[in-house]
Amino acid sequence: MSDKLLVIGEVRDNDIRNVSFEAIAAAKQISADAEIVGVLLSDNDLASAGEEFIAYGADSVITVTHDNLKNYTSEGYGQVVLEIIDELSPNGIVMGHTSIGKDLTPKIASRLSAGLISDVVDIEKDGEAAVYIRPIYSGKAFEKKAFEDDFTFVTIRPNNIPALEKDVSRSGEVTSKDIDIKDLRTVVKEVMRKASEGVDLSEADVIVAGGRGVKSAEGFKPLYELAEVLGGAVGASRGACDADYCDYALQIGQTGKVVTPDLYIAVGISGAIQHLAGMSNSKVIVAINKDPESNIFNVADYGIVGDLFEVIPLLIEEIKKV
Ligand code: FAD
Repeated sequence: MSDKLLVIGEVRDNDIRNVSFEAIAAAKQISADAEIVGVLLSDNDLASAGEEFIAYGADSVITVTHDNLKNYTSEGYGQVVLEIIDELSPNGIVMGHTSIGKDLTPKIASRLSAGLISDVVDIEKDGEAAVYIRPIYSGKAFEKKAFEDDFTFVTIRPNNIPALEKDVSRSGEVTSKDIDIKDLRTVVKEVMRKASEGVDLSEADVIVAGGRGVKSAEGFKPLYELAEVLGGAVGASRGACDADYCDYALQIGQTGKVVTPDLYIAVGISGAIQHLAGMSNSKVIVAINKDPESNIFNVADYGIVGDLFEVIPLLIEEIKKV
């Protein structure tokens, strides 16, 4: 009998997060002939989200709609996922290494006495068995891990394992399941969202990140403009956040977000080890810094030594010509 793997998708404002599609691709890498069952939770109707999950490679999808799933709570999501696991007896679970994934998966794994390998960036095969590669020591090294037993519980870092090509001709059953979520000991009373900052930082393909060298909130404006022409998002060092040039939601690094975009442009950032922990696995790193001795140039693929306030407008001008 082939494996059955559950992929827990994350739905935000009726859209499935990209990392959930990547999780389907990861599940296929873990076991090419596994039956992939998607699980989607929300307080809204999920029929079309279910179809989309199928188009990205799930064989079937279970959707659960309930008022108590409007906002994430580990109790509410945990009850649903545990009930589905109980019913389907899957061989493993794959989910994005997101705020929700980081919170939910250890709780469920411990309830099931199952092992968990988190923050996976790549999967190799050793015969039939999957070997999981994950960064350690703030990205300075990688370790390879495998499961001793058969149950596979994995979270994958966004932007590392490419999603399968969307194929709307794929077919599969989307089943809506009634699950009563009861006796929640915590409820989310209100979510106070920040105004949208455009592209989601943790899933952006291009990030323009500013540091203390940007000197002010006003100084971030050209970075936003550069990010816009590149279709990317703006991030920041903690130095810039501490100096109140931008919000902590933009912080990248050991105590901020971990990102792996295709292109990371570090602007006026010195390259402290705590910052590198959040971005050094980016595919191409460009550094703009006026100090040629700056540590950021040690991790950069391309370096521009110069004043950012002169370099950025020139870059924007040239990119606009393309
Ligand atoms: P600086 O180190 O001050 O660098 C500014 C750079 O701008 C310099 O290299 C300078 O040459 C350049 N510059 C100045 N003017 C210009 C100009 N006009 N044009 C071009 N270049 C210019 N930091 C993080 O980023 N993320 C984290 O998650 C994080 N977590 C931390 C956790 C702990 C426990 C600790 C102790 C620290 C942490 N830090 C973190 C802080 C980190 O150690 C650094 O202090 C911080 O990254 C420095 O930010 P910066 O590079 O923007 O500033």
